[in-house]
Formats: sequence, structure tokens, C-alpha cells
Amino acid sequence: MNIFDQNKVCKYCMDEIKPCKDEGLQCFECNQMVHLRCLKRGSVPGGLHGDVFFTYKCTECSASGVEVFIRNKTSWMQIIVLVLYHLREKRPGLARRGFFHWRHHVASFIDKNWDIIFPPDTKMKKKWRGTIAGTLSHFNPFIFVSGTSIFNEPAWWTLKYTSLSPDVITHIHAEMINEKGVLKSKKLKVPSDAELFGKVLTLCVDDQEYLQTFIVNTTQVDIKDDYEKVPVVKKVVRTKRKGPTNSLSNPKKLFKAGTASLDIPIELITEPEEKLQTHPTCTKKEQETERTENIKLYDPFCHYNTSLNKLAYLRGTSLYTKLTGGIRQEPFLSPYSEIYLKPYIRRDTEIFPPWLKLMAEIQLTVNAKYDSEYELPPRAPLDYTYVQPEHIPAINSLCNQFFWPGIDLTDSLKYPDFSCVVLYKRLIVGFAFLVPDVSHTENYMSFCFTRPGWRNCGIGRFMVYHLIQTSLGKDITLNVSINNPALFLYQKFGFKVEKVVLDFYDKYLICDYNDKSKHAFFCRLER
Ligand SMILES: [Zn+2]
Ligand SMILES: [Zn+2]
Repeated sequence: MNIFDQNKVCKYCMDEIKPCKDEGLQCFECNQMVHLRCLKRGSVPGGLHGDVFFTYKCTECSASGVEVFIRNKTSWMQIIVLVLYHLREKRPGLARRGFFHWRHHVASFIDKNWDIIFPPDTKMKKKWRGTIAGTLSHFNPFIFVSGTSIFNEPAWWTLKYTSLSPDVITHIHAEMINEKGVLKSKKLKVPSDAELFGKVLTLCVDDQEYLQTFIVNTTQVDIKDDYEKVPVVKKVVRTKRKGPTNSLSNPKKLFKAGTASLDIPIELITEPEEKLQTHPTCTKKEQETERTENIKLYDPFCHYNTSLNKLAYLRGTSLYTKLTGGIRQEPFLSPYSEIYLKPYIRRDTEIFPPWLKLMAEIQLTVNAKYDSEYELPPRAPLDYTYVQPEHIPAINSLCNQFFWPGIDLTDSLKYPDFSCVVLYKRLIVGFAFLVPDVSHTENYMSFCFTRPGWRNCGIGRFMVYHLIQTSLGKDITLNVSINNPALFLYQKFGFKVEKVVLDFYDKYLICDYNDKSKHAFFCRLER
């Protein structure tokens, strides 16, 4: 299969197959191409963006009449490029200034989608996470770019060439290895991988649009100096095209000039002037458009919405469903991150909430009358889970009872990653929610609640801890009533009071907000 061949058209729609824009798979029987979007099954198995690492047989060639996809053996470099490419396109909101955390985002995505990414029966080697870290460093800075200088933490990574698809990067890398072999056999000086990759790239791709390198959105560190240290970047960004070297005299073109459209993904920029000097082809306007297209922002107070219709609905719900919610035993797909979430965040059998203590005492006293040897049976665990549709009626009911009427948390099902629901058997004893992406750098904590009788034993603390863990790299903000003791918990986690919002709860309170003040502190945890 040769993607350098430019005159391929899709056998179904007859439109051109365009690398990085509108890619396709080639049937290994009839050799015809099919756009990923024109596949009969709708998308490739797993649905990863830009994933063409399959051996494919079209419906017409397949004996069963069903398309066949066999996962190819892929290198770790290819897999990481694929995951970063997918996350950039589909989950830009997870990123911190365009960078993804190698363990929490990349490794955890691979972990959850192992069966999709690898051929069947691929064994998970013990140190596979270490391999990811090693691979990222090995291909730094010509395929991957590290965010170390920005975050003072060597955990954040992104793709150097934001417009190149995993398939194209694979081909350029293969070409580079090939080139290395040629130079070696001719006993010529072999440049560094980074230099050679840059050379091959500029020879194979002569459209500047595709040579855009990642630009960080930063106000703290001027990364210009950082780029100066890397010779390849300068060449790629600033020179139109290098003259061919001996062995590269007949480069194959990846793209025809002029095939690029304007919607190339460019990283966000806040202060245009300095950065634009290093990357002359992007204008502020383009970046702004890109930003608004990439990230959907949520209203921080969307969980506070009240509606009278909802009130009527809630009255009709049975007491049983208002109090309880089940737990699913299988992992489920988050519509937000497209990651499989585990059924349990944590199962706790250690802590003894006051309510359970009271119940245990009653049980002991009553039973001791008849059996002096009586021992308490082991207690059921407290289960920390992600929010599920079956929890919503009970959570809404608790919110209506303890906060204000008409609250509806159905919206939280769109981003279950940012939730924590605590169950004792089927009884909901606590919950906490974040609204993600209320701004480009901020998630908002809308509710954190523990049932009376279950407080002061660490449930709230773990829920807040969990939510902080899910928002790596983003500030968390919240409003808390000025006489709510939960403020101390937030302060322990590093939340700082930023301002006082007078009458914050006024607009929500239909009846008295029990003993809480209607004024609120606006607090922020800076990351
Ligand atoms: Zn097509
Ligand atoms: Zn075919």
C-alpha cells in the first residue's frame, strides 16, 4: 500500500482520498480505497480518529459480505501518535494548554482501550507504562514535544506536527529509517534522528500548512528560546524547502500543493505578538476561531437550573427510587472522554460512619440479650462510583431536600468522569460533581454533599480528592456558603477564597436554605 500515490479515489463516493484530511483504507483484495467515513460499518473498529492501522477487506471482496478489519502490528511510537492525535481532535478539553499527561491521559486511554489498539491476545507487559515514557523521550522533540519547560514537570506531552495524521508520520518515520540505512551503506555521515526526520519531512511535504509545529498557549514562559535550541524546528518552520541531499534526490510527495484547507488544528495562543514571530503563518484570528471550535464551554451553574416541570416529575417518582441507586458491574463508556470508566472508583470497608456505628450498637445490644457470644457480621463496603442514570432521581431528590427545589443533575451524565457518587449497598450517602470546561483553564465544582449521619468520616474528603485528580492541569472553582463548615475541607486541599459573592444563593432559594447563609465565598484551587 502506497499512500504517496496521489490519484486514489474512494470506490464508493468517487471523491479523492486526502492524507490527513479525508483518509481511507485500501482493500487488500481489490486494492481499491474507501474513505474511513464511507466504510459500511460507519467507522473503523474502536472509532479512533485517524486510525488506519488495519488490514482491510471490503464488503464486495469479503466472502461473508461483511467488511473485515484485522489490527496491524504497530510500534509504540505509532500507538502514542494515534492516541495523542485522537485526544487532540476529540477531547481537547482534557488538555492542559494543549499538552496531555502521559500517565493520566495517554497510558490510561491505552489501558482502557487495550483490546481496540492491539491485535487480539497481545500480552500486557509488566512495564508497558514505562515504555510509553521512554518512547515519548526517544522521539522528543521531532515527533513529540514535552511540556517540561512550561509546567516544570516532565509529564506533559503533545504532537509536534499537529496537522500530520498518524499514517503520514508513520511513513515519514519509515522513510527516515530507510534513509539512515542508505547513508550508512554509503559510509556517509549520518545526522541525528531529529535532523534527518526534519529533512525527510520537508522533502515529502512541501505544503507549509502541514509543517505547522505545535505552539503552546502560555503566559508564564517564553518558549521562543526553547525552540531556538532545536535546529529541526527552525528549519521546518522557517525554510520553504531544503535542497535535496545525495540520497534524497527523488523525494516522493505526500501532498499536492494547494490541497490543504484552512482548518488546520493550530494550538491556542493568548498573546499573539511574541509567538507570531516564531510562527509567521498563523494569524490571531485563525487561532481564535480554532479555539471556539475545539472546546465546548459549559455554563458553570448549569446544575443549578431549576424548573417547575422537574418539580412535578420528582413528586411522581417513587420513594424507593428517590432514595436508592444501583451500581453497574461493567466498565461503561464516558461520552465526554470516550474512555471506559471502571464501575468502582474505590470500595471502602475501613471507615465507620456515625450512622453505621449507631446501627451496630443497636444490633449488638439487642442480640447480646440472647447470645452473649454475638459478633457483628462484616459490614458492606462503601462504594465510590461514577454517576449513572439510575442515580439521578435519588440525587435530584437529595438536592431538592438539602439545597433548593428543582435542581436537576441529569446534565452530569454527559461528563461522568467528573463525578463521584457514594453508595452504601443501594443507598446514596454522598455525591460530588464538577462541571468541566467552564473556561479554558477551569472546572467548576457544582455540588458536594454527604448525607447527615455519614459526615466527618472522610467521605467528603475522598470525593473532593477524586475530583481534584480528574482535573489535572485545570483550576477548580466553587462557591460555598460563608457559614458552611465544608469551607475548611476545601481549604485543606488548597482552595483559596478569591472573593465574597453577596446574595449568591438568593436567586436559587425558593424556600429557606436551611441554616446556611445566602452569601458565598468564591474559592479557587490553582493548578
Ligand atoms: Zn468515500
Ligand atoms: Zn475489495
